[in-house]
Amino acid sequence: MQFDTASYLRKATSRAKSDVANKLISMLLHEISRRVVDVVGMGVTDAAYAREVVATFGDRCGYCQRVLETGHTSVEHMEGMNRFRIGLHVPGNVIVACKHCNGSKRRDDQLPTLILAESGWESFLSHNGTRCSPGCKTCAYWQAVWPDIEQRTDVLRTAVQRIKTFRESYKSSNEWSIRIRASIKTKADLLYRECQKSAQQQIQVMAAELFQELN
Ligand SMILES: [Zn+2]
Ligand SMILES: [Zn+2]
Repeated sequence: MQFDTASYLRKATSRAKSDVANKLISMLLHEISRRVVDVVGMGVTDAAYAREVVATFGDRCGYCQRVLETGHTSVEHMEGMNRFRIGLHVPGNVIVACKHCNGSKRRDDQLPTLILAESGWESFLSHNGTRCSPGCKTCAYWQAVWPDIEQRTDVLRTAVQRIKTFRESYKSSNEWSIRIRASIKTKADLLYRECQKSAQQQIQVMAAELFQELN
C-alpha cells in the first residue's frame, strides 16, 4: 500500500494541538501515583518490584510474549495514563512491553468507551480476529504477529491470565486505583478542556500580537 502522506500530515497537526492537555493529565496522574506509592510503600522503581516483574514475565513482552530487545522496548502502563483509562504509575500497573504492542495498544487506550473488555490492556488482548469488524487494525496486528488462529487465541488468553494474576498480587495499589478512577474522571475531563481552552486562547493572543508588531 502506498504511504498516505496527506493523512499523516493531518494527524500530525491534530496531535500537536492536543498534546499539551494530554501532558497535563499525565502530570496529574503521576502526582497522584507518587501519593499512592507513599501510602502503599512500594514504587515501580524499587528493586523488589523489578524482580517480581521479571519473575512473572521473564525477558518477554507482557502482551505478545516475544523476547524483548534493547531499543525496541517500552515501559508499559496496562491502564493507560490518559483521561479515558486513568492508569497510574504504581506497582501492578507497570510492566515492560515491546514497542509494537505499546504502539498498537494505543488505539484501545484512546477510546472513550471500551467494547471488548473493561480495561485497556484486556481490550487490547481481546482482538483475536473474531469479535471486531473486518477492518479492525488491532485484530490485523495480532493476526500478523500470530497468524495461526489457535496459537493466537492461546497466546492472548495466556497473556490475559498472567496479567490478571500479576495485578491481583498488588491488592492495595489496585484498590487505590479503582477508587481514584471513580472519583477523578470528571475532574480530569474538566482539566483537559480548561487546559486546551486556555492554551488556545493565549496562543491566539500571542500570535495576533506578533503579527501586529510585524505588520
Ligand atoms: Zn509485544
Ligand atoms: Zn479488533
